[in-house]
Amino acid sequence: MTRVGIGYDSHRFASGRPLVLGGVTIPHSQGLTGHSDADAVAHALADAMLGALGLGDIGRLFPDSDPAHKDADSMLLLAEVARRVRASGWALQQADITVVAEVPKLAPHAAAMQTRLAQVLGAEGSAVSIKAKTNEGMGFIGRGEGIAVFAVATLVPAR
Ligand code: MG
Repeated sequence: MTRVGIGYDSHRFASGRPLVLGGVTIPHSQGLTGHSDADAVAHALADAMLGALGLGDIGRLFPDSDPAHKDADSMLLLAEVARRVRASGWALQQADITVVAEVPKLAPHAAAMQTRLAQVLGAEGSAVSIKAKTNEGMGFIGRGEGIAVFAVATLVPAR
């Protein structure tokens, strides 16, 4: 028995913010705007895990109207999602994530993101896959206005 969830997130680039993706701070001239640290990889993955169990989404769990989540470390939000998954009797089997960004080049940071995400989720490093693509210069991503992330998570009953 398995359950599968999908997650999507996008954030806009802005100056004066660190670029944090998958819990890793990536050197770049701009970061992403958002109420939390705007870690779109963590947000898409959290939504995929929540979706697999029909537990809602991170916007419902951690409303951006709540000052407690201002500039929040999304690794803490993801850890809470993992805790809820375990409390429901399920375990992450595997997550596959695609980050779509024209800049910066993310492939060199994929391994660090995988390690960090697996650590926060209490999963094997091989359970998390990160792929980076550009949008071939098209649309808001192609113009460098922001990034988008797609995530799929597969859960299995906890043993
Ligand atoms: Mg988000």
